[in-house]
Amino acid sequence: MSSIVLFGPPGAGKGTQAERITETTGLPQISTGDMLRAAVKAGTETGVLAKSYMESGQLVPDEVIIDLIKERITHPDAAHGVMFDGFPRTVPQAEALASITSVSHVIAIEVPDDRIVERICGRYSCGGCGSVYHDTFNPVPENGCDCGSWIEKRRADDNEDTVMSRLSAYHAQTSPLANWYQAKGIFHQIDGNRGIDDITQDILRALE
Ligand code: ADP
Ligand code: ADP
Ligand code: ZN
Repeated sequence: MSSIVLFGPPGAGKGTQAERITETTGLPQISTGDMLRAAVKAGTETGVLAKSYMESGQLVPDEVIIDLIKERITHPDAAHGVMFDGFPRTVPQAEALASITSVSHVIAIEVPDDRIVERICGRYSCGGCGSVYHDTFNPVPENGCDCGSWIEKRRADDNEDTVMSRLSAYHAQTSPLANWYQAKGIFHQIDGNRGIDDITQDILRALE
């Protein structure tokens, strides 16, 4: 079965859109960022290795990421394709992915750098269900998250200093992947500098 890749700079809205698109497509979301944060929290070997890269806004080495994905893709829920969020982020990662599973659509959410800083610095999420919110653009309902177990969570790396390193890593190491996927004819550009629902509509149309 075929998988989908959500592509774009940090804070572009990949996780926000993934939440909505899993509801329609039924494809499970695989976020390497979430997997790495879980590994750091659990203190696994991978977590210990990844922590300093994440804190400084650098990419975690390819071998580590590829091993995580190779293992995750064997879970039964991945049998009919998945939605990758934040993976691949380098050409070697994309090459490894191509040898593991086929990708039918790469959805590139495009947002200018000057918008990224405000998005990332205002981001928080629900500790109960993982839903993503924003101080001004998408605040949590007054009575807390719909899931019923609201705890506000903010990421350690969501600060102005780290955003700059993450953006330069994106431009240097990740954006070259756009050409790589364009050449394969599966690359769909989406204007991410608009309302959340408009973007969801466009993505669903691209997936039709
Ligand atoms: P990514 O997964 O690409 O890093 P997120 O989905 O976590 O991005 O979004 C980053 C922040 O921007 C979050 O606080 C989210 O609520 C907010 N956000 C997402 N999409 C939009 C949008 N279209 N307009 C304004 N803010 C958005
Ligand atoms: P964002 O979309 O805001 O950049 P993520 O949760 O996707 O956040 O990633 C957080 C951090 O985890 C990245 O800055 C990087 O250090 C690491 N990371 C996540 N995915 C990858 C990946 N595919 N390759 C290398 N590093 C990754
Ligand atoms: Zn919740």
